[in-house]
Amino acid sequence: MTYRDRVLHLEQAPLAEIAARAGTPAYVYSSAGIEQNFRAYDAAFGSAPHSICYSVKANGNLSILRLLARAGSGFDIVSGGELYRVMKAGGDPARVVFSGVGKTAAEIDQALEAGIFVFNAESEPELALIDALAQRRGRKARVALRINPDVDAATHAYISTGRLAHKFGVDIGEAEAVYLRARELKNLSFEGVSCHIGSQLLDSAPLLSALDRLMLLIDRLRAHGFEIRHADLGGGVGIAYKPEDAAPDIAGFVKQVRERAAVRGLHILIEPGRSIAGNAGVLLTRVLYRKKTGDKEFVVVDAAMNDLIRPALYGAYHHILPVRQTEAPPLRADVVGPVCETGDFLARDREIPQVLPGDVLAILSAGAYGFAQSSNYNSRPRAAEILVEGSQWRIIRRRESYEDLIRGEE
Ligand SMILES: *Cc1c(COP(=O)(O)O)cnc(C)c1O
Repeated sequence: MTYRDRVLHLEQAPLAEIAARAGTPAYVYSSAGIEQNFRAYDAAFGSAPHSICYSVKANGNLSILRLLARAGSGFDIVSGGELYRVMKAGGDPARVVFSGVGKTAAEIDQALEAGIFVFNAESEPELALIDALAQRRGRKARVALRINPDVDAATHAYISTGRLAHKFGVDIGEAEAVYLRARELKNLSFEGVSCHIGSQLLDSAPLLSALDRLMLLIDRLRAHGFEIRHADLGGGVGIAYKPEDAAPDIAGFVKQVRERAAVRGLHILIEPGRSIAGNAGVLLTRVLYRKKTGDKEFVVVDAAMNDLIRPALYGAYHHILPVRQTEAPPLRADVVGPVCETGDFLARDREIPQVLPGDVLAILSAGAYGFAQSSNYNSRPRAAEILVEGSQWRIIRRRESYEDLIRGEE
């Protein structure tokens, strides 16, 4: 993203023109950015056996999925709806891993029918259900048990998933016994071991220590005669949301993973979402009003917590840039939306560029868990989504209408 003639551009597309023509709020993604981030993982693994399964929940727009499928990505899904999206986008079901702690029978059956690569199963009852449904179809289902390695991911409490107090996976201390008991389930084939300790990890050390614990388990399982072929690391590394933040270097991280996998001849699976889409997207929003209450200054914009919930949900920081550069001195303000909640803010007590009603702001790092977590709260139609390719851009999801709001209601 760069300023040219004082206008912010994503690739070669001027964001001011996009806002004027497509309206606001609007999510705008860079296809080159997404592809580059995917290639960073792919190139780092090089000739080592690996599968990159993009995490659909980060941003499941069909055009994004198609872009990644064409780049050679597999997909990590957490629902039947996400499998439906992947197939609609032309993704290969044979490269899909199905994660999640609460898969329904219907979802498992849908995935068996599609012929997905592997189920990341999270409990013994789930293994039993997959086995029963596979038997009914006269098939063997490939499974990996999701292990809870009891590692502290040092991230926001809501997106930390690898401690025993969390609902995810099977306690690493019990995993060996679970695999041994599950040998009785004749319609399962135990392909791998998986984990996912959390998201937005700015330090790769916990990821590597989880992997080390997984490796020891794999050694023990192999000693019992299980032909474990792959280790699934879960999500990718964190991203820099603040200009001063340093995100882990993907190549350096992957090198460490490769070393551990190579000695065991293991295939590595990784399911990055945020680090592929996050910094490849922005949310454009227009300033509606400026107002003061007491000493506080507010900039009221047309995007709200229903469009981007991360600040309200996680206290997340999103950097803000003006779409048109100004010389005027910055101001200190809260950037808030129209929704009737005090938690409806995009930035709090933040030094931001001088803006007037009508100006457009770009909320950065909004490509992952942005639109995907948006809602119709306050009966607000969801934003448009736009994909940039060089100097070209096109709408990949039209802005919702009032009709869309009431579809299905009586
Ligand atoms: C959310 C999630 C991911 C993606 O995590 P990122 O931090 O976005 O890379 C991967 N795997 C599982 C099981 C997840 O729940």
